[in-house]
Amino acid sequence: MSDEKVPFLDLVTVHRGLQDEFVDVLKTALSTAGFIGGPMVQGFEQDFAQFCESRICVGLGSGTDALRFALIAAGIRSGDIVVTVPNTFIATTEAISQAGAHPDFVDIDERTYNMDPGKLRQYLEKDCTWDAGTKRAYHKRSGSPVTAVVPVHLYGQMADMDPILDLAAKYNLKVIEDACQAHGAEYFSKKENRWRKAGSMGHAAAFSFYPGKNLGALGEAGAMTTGDEQLAQTCRLLRDHGQSKKYFHDIEGYNGRLDAIQAGFLRAKLRHLKKWNGQRREIAKRYNQLFAGTEGSITLPHEPDWSRSVYHLYVLRVADRVQLQKQLDEAGIGTGIHYPIALHLTKAYEGLGFRAGDFPVAEKAVSQILSLPLFPDLTSRQQDRVVATVLKSLSVASSLSGLSGSSGLSG
Ligand SMILES: *Cc1c(COP(=O)(O)O)cnc(C)c1O
Repeated sequence: MSDEKVPFLDLVTVHRGLQDEFVDVLKTALSTAGFIGGPMVQGFEQDFAQFCESRICVGLGSGTDALRFALIAAGIRSGDIVVTVPNTFIATTEAISQAGAHPDFVDIDERTYNMDPGKLRQYLEKDCTWDAGTKRAYHKRSGSPVTAVVPVHLYGQMADMDPILDLAAKYNLKVIEDACQAHGAEYFSKKENRWRKAGSMGHAAAFSFYPGKNLGALGEAGAMTTGDEQLAQTCRLLRDHGQSKKYFHDIEGYNGRLDAIQAGFLRAKLRHLKKWNGQRREIAKRYNQLFAGTEGSITLPHEPDWSRSVYHLYVLRVADRVQLQKQLDEAGIGTGIHYPIALHLTKAYEGLGFRAGDFPVAEKAVSQILSLPLFPDLTSRQQDRVVATVLKSLSVASSLSGLSGSSGLSG
């Protein structure tokens, strides 16, 4: 076998065939001096809304802007509680805090790593009291109203949205999808008896076009999608200092616009996204096949029959993650951990008063997950090398544990 290095992510190969299109975008921007807003942004917004099967898209500066603006525009106010999961990128909770609300958490499903709707139900039924007058659930300990939930479609797979939307309707919660890793992911809604796209199910959804995402800009970019024209209009104000027209500020806003050239690059790349997502799904399927039979030592990604994941990441779970990651690193194979610390235990949130053990499913997953190389241009040869190295590392580990077991030293 060759000793060719395998990067975790390759953002060079994917852009090779697109250079002419990118140059055209730049030329258009230079010849029209259209750098902010304008037809390239509007064109991308239309195309991306259509891709997401959502009515409206508003182009923004980042996924974090999208989450923050969507929460504010959905009416989340200072002192509210917004519920999400502990195993997400910190942008999810940063946006909640920056909208003025308090982030709170419910635990995840052990197999999908996404929000467990049963845990959300428990939270609303047991940890909150319902006030029929204000039509709000109030968190018992803090007395604060719970006004929104942010399900995160982690690793490219949608959260189990039907029961989450049912609970949100029952408890009068806004639902803001964090779809920053899930461009094109699909969910089969039993209630509607049809497949739904990520970004089309909640009151609003946030997408990131950070370069490594399934659809990545050549810099920073993001967008929100919604079916609600009022909410979209507020996001348009928020992204542009609250201006309804130049220097007439209806509200205080932010600088959160999408650059025209990034919109142009994204529009060119969006035409390939379906193909790229298909390639990701094929690569994930091949990983599953090559790892078949190792279920005792490796937990493979679980895709329920109601889900079509776009595999932003291919995440394994093993008992000794440290050892496996070290051996892959020594073999020149890139890996990642998404994410190494559950947010309720991260330093920035020490002040929130959570403890180890509060969200045991997420905490255990966080200690065992490892993301393998997965990008549309990953070759079969590279993939074979990753799989062989993983299997070698695990067979060494299992023979070692067998040894200590038989000598009575395990424990
Ligand atoms: C990338 C990401 C974000 C933030 O997006 P930016 O564009 O980097 O601001 C938010 N949530 C999740 C789950 C992400 O993966």
